[in-house]
Amino acid sequence: MEGLGKKITLIVIAVAALTFAGVRACRVTANQVTVANELVGDGFCLACRTNVQFVHPKGEEPPHKCPACNERAVYRWYYCSECHRRFIPRMEKDIEGTLRPVRPTYCAACGCENVGPYYEGFVEVPPIEDVEPPPSQ
Ligand SMILES: [Zn+2]
Ligand SMILES: [Zn+2]
Repeated sequence: MEGLGKKITLIVIAVAALTFAGVRACRVTANQVTVANELVGDGFCLACRTNVQFVHPKGEEPPHKCPACNERAVYRWYYCSECHRRFIPRMEKDIEGTLRPVRPTYCAACGCENVGPYYEGFVEVPPIEDVEPPPSQ
């Protein structure tokens, strides 16, 4: 009988450990969801003409809110893999007069399509220069 009691104790411990692991796993997942709902980007504010790192809800269309001046005038930097320049995509006003990036996106310097959102440290060649961002109007 002693052996059986030991076995039961071990099972109880194992179940408790698994439950604890389960709770931890849930917590981690919840954190990841929170992080994934907000994204960080490198952008340029057309209102205060400043380079900013901004946080925005996932799926939010530009312009984003500026952490420096609070204006909704931040556009993400794009990077060209051909000429290695950073640029703000060409924009057009929508019916409400808000500037929206024109899709598809082409490099503002060389005009090629080999471009994507810029993430510091995720490009093979660091940007050689920034193309002058467009005016705010
Ligand atoms: Zn600003
Ligand atoms: Zn280019």
